[in-house]
Amino acid sequence: MDSPVTVDPGRSAEIAAGLAHVRSRISAACAAAGRTDSEVTMIAVTKTYPAGDVLALAGLGVLDVGENRDQEASAKAAEVAEAGLTPRWHFIGQLQRNKARSVVRYADAVHSVDSVRLARALDAASAAHRDRPLEVLLQVSLDSDAARGGALPDSPDPGVGLGAVAETVAGAQALRLAGLMAVAPLGWEPERAFARLAEVAAGFRTVHPGAVALSAGMSGDLEIAIRYGATHVRVGSALLGMRPTLR
Ligand SMILES: *Cc1c(COP(=O)(O)O)cnc(C)c1O
Repeated sequence: MDSPVTVDPGRSAEIAAGLAHVRSRISAACAAAGRTDSEVTMIAVTKTYPAGDVLALAGLGVLDVGENRDQEASAKAAEVAEAGLTPRWHFIGQLQRNKARSVVRYADAVHSVDSVRLARALDAASAAHRDRPLEVLLQVSLDSDAARGGALPDSPDPGVGLGAVAETVAGAQALRLAGLMAVAPLGWEPERAFARLAEVAAGFRTVHPGAVALSAGMSGDLEIAIRYGATHVRVGSALLGMRPTLR
């Protein structure tokens, strides 16, 4: 049997320092935007980092964690569960339909739903393998570059138009439409990206008033995302250090 995951005190102290810095950035950004800290949930993005870091984060009170690859996330979630902890796992990466059955077993929320086909696959998997609905955020393409993923706002496309994907999720038995997610497109100033996202979100909420989550902002641009209404920021490197490879 593998040895159980443990927390290294030195590593935990390192993460505590990163966490204090990120929390102060979030507080300052909330204050500047006239918002309260409790309006913003920080998701610690633990991709490429070991299960021990998830335990260290939990020990520091961080129980929302994000992952972007099913294979890595499912193994890590199993290790963490074995250690007796059940943080909330947020799946934030591009997702293939054939991974739906795996993801619904450990994820509490999927932030990257961007097609009717993926929504249907997640609904079927959630109905079969979960006892409560899966939270879904729809990933929005801000530059309409289909290759980078994201549903298309203002598009009547029946497969990847934001309206069609939202209707599918809203009508699904085993999914709960929670809100929207976006990543600033390459080469865009974050202001431009998150201003556009705020505009899309405002229109979206007139149709889906309960879907108020807005997942936006990472280590480099979380202040700007908070200024434009982010309710969830996804922070990796500022907490855990630079990842060895960009992904
Ligand atoms: C990796 C990743 C993040 C975190 O990025 P950092 O710059 O390390 O904070 C956030 N969102 C998504 C979708 C990611 O893949």
